[in-house]
Amino acid sequence: MGAAMLRLSDLALPLDHGPADLEQAVIARLGVEPGDIERLAVVRRGNDARRKTAIKLVYSLDVQLRNEAEVLARFAEDQHVRPTPDTSYRFVARAPEDYAGLRPVVIGAGPCGLLAALVLAQMGFRPIIIERGKAVRERTKDTWGLWRRSVLDPESNVQFGEGGAGTFSDGKLYSRIKDPRHLGRKVLTEFVKAGAPEDILTEAHPHIGTFRLVTMVMSIRETIEKLGGEYRFQTRVEDFEIEQEAGGGRRLTGLHLSTGEFLPASHVIMAVGHSARDTFQVLYDRGVHVEAKPFALGVRIEHPQSWIDNARYGPNAGNSILGPAAYSISHKCANGRVVYSFCMCPGGRVVAATSEEGRVVTNGMSQYSRAEFNANSGLVVDITPERDYPGHPLAGIAFQRKFEELAFKAGGANYKAPGQKLGDFLAGRASSEFGAVIPSYQPGVHLTDLRECLPDFVIDAIREALPVFGRQVPGYDHSDVVMTGVETRTSSPVRITRGRDFQSLNTCGLYPAGEGAGYAGGILSAAVDGIRVAEALALELVSCDRVP
Ligand code: FAD
Repeated sequence: MGAAMLRLSDLALPLDHGPADLEQAVIARLGVEPGDIERLAVVRRGNDARRKTAIKLVYSLDVQLRNEAEVLARFAEDQHVRPTPDTSYRFVARAPEDYAGLRPVVIGAGPCGLLAALVLAQMGFRPIIIERGKAVRERTKDTWGLWRRSVLDPESNVQFGEGGAGTFSDGKLYSRIKDPRHLGRKVLTEFVKAGAPEDILTEAHPHIGTFRLVTMVMSIRETIEKLGGEYRFQTRVEDFEIEQEAGGGRRLTGLHLSTGEFLPASHVIMAVGHSARDTFQVLYDRGVHVEAKPFALGVRIEHPQSWIDNARYGPNAGNSILGPAAYSISHKCANGRVVYSFCMCPGGRVVAATSEEGRVVTNGMSQYSRAEFNANSGLVVDITPERDYPGHPLAGIAFQRKFEELAFKAGGANYKAPGQKLGDFLAGRASSEFGAVIPSYQPGVHLTDLRECLPDFVIDAIREALPVFGRQVPGYDHSDVVMTGVETRTSSPVRITRGRDFQSLNTCGLYPAGEGAGYAGGILSAAVDGIRVAEALALELVSCDRVP
């Protein structure tokens, strides 16, 4: 970390402040002399837009002072003036030079698997990464194949392939997870090393955008390979070999791959994402402990970005420091359901996100510039196994498939998404022509009535919420706003339960991780989970290795 510093947080300055104003504000806030400041670094910048006519930029800064001890003592009671935390990452283990055990295996090259493999490789374990999809450049072509030509490759698409589900996304990199060890910082630092823009280290709500994600994922692969890791693309794990132990326990001994090969393996991180439905089925069939978990279901909603900017920033709409505005809204309905915005993408587009034939799924993405015409967001309703898909650990998957199939039919059975104008949705009639909002979803939107592909309680809940959101974000419930369906892959419908040692509750050697296992939601939290699981696995390998 270098010299000791203090962290000054929650320092608000006017939107139009100049470069020198920041130092002046620090001097005034801390009551120090200009000569006392040896170094000043922004660690975080967000904005406070509660008053549209007086938007403020809110900073956290690391300040190196000549008289730091005296200042810290003077502000001992002030929670916004604290010693700078040590956010540096320390490896928990190193592979012994003579390590002769089986190499750890990581299934899935999404953010969880990538960070798990990277950290394992950095610790000297030479992981094998098994990925069902293609390397990211080839995968990009297949993904665009669905968007441009309505041709789906079920093994290479938005969900499957190097980089995982978030590769064609807005690349939002924030999360509400508790992170006392600052593992999120380790993730962001690795992303910057791999080519992500440096501002992700300081922006309060950082994002990368899809193009940079692609090159970043390739750069991480290069690092892992240089450290002795090995990738196997277009290789799906089809089955798990599990031995019954004498004491009654179960232990993973290897993987059956789609190439026909059997890969002996004793320590496997399973970072397969929320769409690996066939893999969940195999795990269940092999007796691995799996349970149903809640997720959410709904639509994507699109507004012109300028409407959201005006609603959020008023006269400051379009200000380049603020960038395109985002929103996060929720409403508790009379029927007990909660409607909320999900994965909001400013200046982006709605994308076709199915991985299965004959089904339609929506999601959103943006470029780093977030310069496209529309803002889009999921608008989803919470669902639970107890209320909505009771009785079987995998019932959530059947529930998702049902509505994805209905959406495929309602869209015309050609991968167009069914869509409806908000006014018609509220009035309960099918739409027949677009108004002021032209949706961005490719290969196209078929106007219809969304009741054809969503459960009644979802329709009722969204109907109740829209006028409420219209009061919070003026223009939100304009009758020409377009909604497309269905948004089903909000998170995993299952949890592959693990114990405190990060291994499956009933199968030693299997480490369920990331979003698919139900332990993360989003790129950053999946990557952080990957590190935590890699650490647990490494510690286990080191201790196994010590056993004579
Ligand atoms: P995944 O990224 O899903 O990776 C799992 C990998 O495992 C896949 O590559 C898959 O091919 C592979 N796999 C599956 N089964 C097998 C098998 N049997 N054998 C071998 N390989 C297998 N999150 C954000 O935080 N910010 C965003 O802006 C954002 N936007 C998104 C936009 C879109 C279009 C989508 C689809 C998702 C978005 N998300 C976003 C969510 C984010 O992508 C996920 O939370 C994250 O990718 C989960 O990471 P993961 O590594 O756990 O799983």
